[in-house]
Amino acid sequence: MVNRVSRSAESRMSETTTYDTVIVGAGHNGLVCGAYLARAGHRVAIVERRDTVGGACVTDELFPGYRFCTASLVTCLFRQEIVADLDLARHGLEIIPREPSVVALFPDGRSLALGADMAAATAEIGKFSAHDAAVYADYGETMRRLARFAAPYLLGKSRTPLLDDMPALRTALAAAAGLPDDDLRRLVTALFGSARSLLDDWFESDELKVTLATDGVVGVDAGPSMPGTAYLMLYHQMGATESARPSWGQVKGGMGGITRALAAACAAHGADIVTGQAVRRIRVGSVGAEAVELDDGRQLRGRVIVSAAAPKTTFLDLVDADAVPSGYRHAIGGADFEGVAAKIHLALDRLPEIRGLPGECAEYRGTLQILPSMDHSDAAHAESRLGRPSSEPHVECTIPTVLDPSLAPPGKHVMSMYVQFTPYTLAGTTWEDIKEPFADRVLDYIEPYLPGLTASVLNRKILTPRDLERELALPGGHLYHGAMSARDMFAGRPVAGYADYHTPVPGLYLCGAGTRPGGGVFGMPGKNASDVVRQHLEDDHGRR
Ligand SMILES: Cc1cc2nc3c(=O)[nH]c(=O)nc-3n(C[C@H](O)[C@H](O)[C@H](O)COP(=O)(O)OP(=O)(O)OC[C@H]3O[C@@H](n4cnc5c(N)ncnc54)[C@H](O)[C@@H]3O)c2cc1C
Repeated sequence: MVNRVSRSAESRMSETTTYDTVIVGAGHNGLVCGAYLARAGHRVAIVERRDTVGGACVTDELFPGYRFCTASLVTCLFRQEIVADLDLARHGLEIIPREPSVVALFPDGRSLALGADMAAATAEIGKFSAHDAAVYADYGETMRRLARFAAPYLLGKSRTPLLDDMPALRTALAAAAGLPDDDLRRLVTALFGSARSLLDDWFESDELKVTLATDGVVGVDAGPSMPGTAYLMLYHQMGATESARPSWGQVKGGMGGITRALAAACAAHGADIVTGQAVRRIRVGSVGAEAVELDDGRQLRGRVIVSAAAPKTTFLDLVDADAVPSGYRHAIGGADFEGVAAKIHLALDRLPEIRGLPGECAEYRGTLQILPSMDHSDAAHAESRLGRPSSEPHVECTIPTVLDPSLAPPGKHVMSMYVQFTPYTLAGTTWEDIKEPFADRVLDYIEPYLPGLTASVLNRKILTPRDLERELALPGGHLYHGAMSARDMFAGRPVAGYADYHTPVPGLYLCGAGTRPGGGVFGMPGKNASDVVRQHLEDDHGRR
């Protein structure tokens, strides 16, 4: 298992070495970028402040014998092309499909299970609406078609923002104008509308709508009626395969299985990874970025420096203010970085029941979603806007030990709750004061859905947005290194004019979730950035 740096990598690192690329941060995007560059023959060093690689894609042993996905929990976006290019299966990556993938539990005792099995999903939806069951497959095909249409503008080779490239914008609009009427209408809704308006166009069952709408609100400060949430649904469709909704898989050994495999691929191609060392400064000289200074005082020089840390961390904490044009720094600082999600990790003595379902049913494999209705989701969001965690938040419970018992001692389980509408900034109190009572309240809230849960808890750890910021270096605890919207596609991410991973500091690039196309365990920011950096190195446009 590669998680700490090997002694040989540590001793190879010296201040007299000039690496082709020094990467700040060993989250999955930093590792993807490093692995592609090392595979192309470049000398790469990756420096990570935590003791383990992975960033928000990590498995941590939070209690002896109990291993948890500390932040991200399931995968649907991680690109198959990256798995293949970097031979990640040979390096130990194993994705376990989950069927069903999501199981919504409702206050009246009914449930709705959706997964890749279309026949099973249609039968489940039929419990709520025959009409919705009849159109569900068409909805899925349409969303995948729209995602295929949008993908080149979000993921493709030309990374110039559309608003900066009038010929490309005209071509894109002409292509959109050629879509059938219904697709065009729905594309506009998907890009600029709300999850509610997108779903109202198809379905009548509120239970189905709220089950699907979570892909549009997860991680963002918005309820499903807010414009922009349909975009996040479309974004998640980039990971959809044959099912109508993205099918979220589990990683063997937890999400750290992805980043352990990536670290092994980096090592196999000769990259040096050092963990447990924070970069305290990216040094900028007269011609651009030239080195990183580590917490222990060492300096690592690079022809190119790439930051996989969030744009806010990079430009407000690591690069001297006078090295960055004030307009760019202002744009980075002004972006929305405040997270809205918390995690509650539980070590369980035994499985709870799922109300209304038989013991040992397949539903235990899926994400158990507790969010009664679309209106409830909007109200929970509105409450959080007042600066307090929602009293009945959006909760998603996952029990990975059902499919991977290796994560806990024999017979025991781990369960992680993703809890949304828990604002970073509280009014009149602090998270330190309220986090334990808050966790008690969440457990009380979901106990009727999962009878026996509270009594089975052996240990628990709560991570508020403040804890996610402190422990994982996520500014504001934001899941995606900053808010996401269709603006990212048209005007660039993180800042208009800088959609292609370069920054105003020569020789300094970004490659994390705060860059295009965006957050989630996706790998595309890291892969795309590696192309741009390789070009820089190979064209010898470097300054040295
Ligand atoms: C609670 C939560 C739940 C989520 N659930 C899911 C999910 O189920 N599925 C999904 O696809 N996505 C999920 N996400 C989103 C996803 O995990 C992130 O968007 C993604 O992992 C970000 O990856 P990254 O490599 O770009 O950045 P990060 O993972 O943040 O990596 C950046 C790295 O840089 C390091 N770093 C920062 N500053 C320094 C420094 N000064 N010196 C050295 N190192 C530094 C950090 O320690 C970190 O390792 C979730 C996120 C959170 C927080």
